[in-house]
Amino acid sequence: MRSFERILISAAMDSEILDLMEELDQPERLEVAGYTLVLGMIEDKTVAVLKTEIGMVNGTASVAFAADYFKPDLIINLGTAGAHNPQLHVGDVVVASSTASINNYFGDDPEIFTDPLLSSRAASHFNRILSSRYECEELGIPCPMTEYGSGKSMLGCIGSGDIWNKDKEAIDAIREEFGTDAEDMETYAAAHVASRLQIPFLGFRIMSNSEVLGEAYKPETGSYCQSLCLSLLENIDTIL
Ligand code: SAH
Repeated sequence: MRSFERILISAAMDSEILDLMEELDQPERLEVAGYTLVLGMIEDKTVAVLKTEIGMVNGTASVAFAADYFKPDLIINLGTAGAHNPQLHVGDVVVASSTASINNYFGDDPEIFTDPLLSSRAASHFNRILSSRYECEELGIPCPMTEYGSGKSMLGCIGSGDIWNKDKEAIDAIREEFGTDAEDMETYAAAHVASRLQIPFLGFRIMSNSEVLGEAYKPETGSYCQSLCLSLLENIDTIL
């Protein structure tokens, strides 16, 4: 059985990370390259909770500096996201079985369309620890599309980019190109760093809004996602 002893948990905004910072026993607060990192214990794990701040550049830099400092054996990235898949409502969860950089989306203009390998590179190394329905259920994450309390959860593709897409046509085009179920601004960045450092990675996001269904942004979903992370930490060694 595999066990994780040093876990780096990262999310972008206060509403997505403060509850977890407050759960730490014996917290030690520090700054790494200007990013807030709080070290402590949850259950019997040594945990570092990082506020990455928003976007792909912050996501990449902060996770890279924090991982170099803390030397985790698992990186978790969580938070809120916008639904692309019309089956997903606010409160539902996507556990990432893949991730894509949707910064690479330039529509169908052949002059500027970049190599899609850029996206699949991280995905191929990614999420080695949670890639099947069986593993999700063992960890207490119901999958796919079953009730978990405030919503339902599924395995899917999270697209990340430095944009909040509001236009339904643009969302549909990105979903068509990359197979995305949801979009955020950091999952791909954190997965990319984890892949470069060959550290197992787990990403999951709660839907805080659906531009597709016209469901408005609900920031309190950030707390539900952190509760899910806590229950996951209780179970994480039982299958691995
Ligand atoms: N309105 C919010 C700003 C959220 S910025 C506020 O002022 O507090 C976007 C953050 O939420 C990013 O970290 C991103 O990962 C996440 N996010 C949630 N829904 C998103 C969406 N539809 N598109 C892109 N990012 C989204």
